[in-house]
Amino acid sequence: MFSQFKHWYDNRHDYARAWKERTGGKVMGCFCSYNPEEIIVAAGWLPTRILGAHEAQDVAEKHIFGMYCPFCRDVLAQGLKGRHEYLNGILLTQSCIHLRQAFISWKLHVPVDFQHYIYMPMKVQSPSALPYHRSELVKFKEALEAFNGKPITNADLDHGIEVVNENRKLMRDVYEYRKAGNLKLTGTEAMYMTVSSTWVDKEEHSTEIRKVLEQLPDREIDRDDTARLMFIGSENDDIPFIELVEMVGATVVQDDHCTGTRYFWNLVDPQDDRMTAIADRYIQRPACPAKDWEKRTRFDHILELAREWDVEGAVIIQQKFCDPHETDMVPLRAFLDDNDIPNLMLEFDATNPLGPFRIRVEAFLEMIGSEDLF
Ligand code: SF4
Repeated sequence: MFSQFKHWYDNRHDYARAWKERTGGKVMGCFCSYNPEEIIVAAGWLPTRILGAHEAQDVAEKHIFGMYCPFCRDVLAQGLKGRHEYLNGILLTQSCIHLRQAFISWKLHVPVDFQHYIYMPMKVQSPSALPYHRSELVKFKEALEAFNGKPITNADLDHGIEVVNENRKLMRDVYEYRKAGNLKLTGTEAMYMTVSSTWVDKEEHSTEIRKVLEQLPDREIDRDDTARLMFIGSENDDIPFIELVEMVGATVVQDDHCTGTRYFWNLVDPQDDRMTAIADRYIQRPACPAKDWEKRTRFDHILELAREWDVEGAVIIQQKFCDPHETDMVPLRAFLDDNDIPNLMLEFDATNPLGPFRIRVEAFLEMIGSEDLF
């Protein structure tokens, strides 16, 4: 049922090349989940998230500090190795310094026709954040219009908003089938769906989700609805790790990742001024810790998800050297403890030691009372 998402996950580059061939359109490499995909779709481009390959590499070290997070080094390595030769443009909306360095190095060393950097405010809770971000999105829209030699109309923006919103809504519908007593899919299957949505044409992806949604109500899934875990952290598309967690008996039922719910949870609320509507969506979305100041709004949001999805424990996935998430780590763990959510922190690299991780996950499951799993 989820095999098409897996196929897309495994063949992301072939997918983008075939999409270009089929549509004659252009492809935008997206460095962050804060990129305004509505505008990219409105311009007729395919937004495609650039992720790492989870393999050892030795090409990025010359260009980026070794103590920058493994994810952004892995991302840069993909460009330096020429794996995204099909991109027509690259886009970063300001998120963290590490990813910005990857973007700058890519600009310098990997030729691409269009490149743009959106100076999104870090302090999204400030009253001036919305008008500021709107003005940055207008600059981006104008840059795309100039490059395309054609305006992006309100009708185009409406189309972009509708297509991206619909994909978000459908993924939320699928997440309903991860709730207690209604478990119809594994966390691994959900990860294939959400991660592939970051680079597959949204309308095509939505068509596939609709097919899945038709079948889910009658689906029997061969696993106990116990040891319900939530993953929390930055980027995470590590299939071998989530498979390992589910192989030892847990089920991952929710997440707070920028390749998961933070990417799609909230919608654009349409209004006459389309650019304000789009800007507001990104200001209001579940925040990355890099932008969650001065109040940490993400903690309450995480708790809400954990409660609604009956989470019994959380695995916090910390990309090594990730400053934004490290800053949140101590208060987040204290917050989860205070709210009786046991938690395990694992530090991720581009490749991970699955043997030792397995022992730690099994010990964690024993601790939260799922020892009958073994
Ligand atoms: S938020 Fe963290 S994991 Fe994501 S790119 Fe920045 S430093 Fe790396």
